[in-house]
Amino acid sequence: MGDIVFWTLIRLAISIPAVWILRNYIDFQLWWILVPVVLYIVVIHPAFVGYRRFEEKNKSVIESTLCSNCKHFDPTAVLCLKHDKHPTSDYLPCEGFDWELKL
Ligand code: SF4
Repeated sequence: MGDIVFWTLIRLAISIPAVWILRNYIDFQLWWILVPVVLYIVVIHPAFVGYRRFEEKNKSVIESTLCSNCKHFDPTAVLCLKHDKHPTSDYLPCEGFDWELKL
């Protein structure tokens, strides 16, 4: 999840100066139309695609592991907060010893 945010910010940091420079070379009204299109194509759409891939890749961990109903599990980052590690479908950082029911 951190990569998605990081690369979204990088793409945003690159695209804002790029469209600002582009302002000098094209008609101003066309530029206003182009700005949201460029931001959608370069920043927003890749972020949505990355998030969808993240969800698909981690769906089994979020829904069907011991961690999924543990109070130390953060499903938004797929992270065990107690051990600061990412569980997978065949790896539990605590091996089940620190599991506590999420209420
Ligand atoms: S404490 Fe254990 S069961 Fe709970 S989230 Fe961490 S690894 Fe998973």
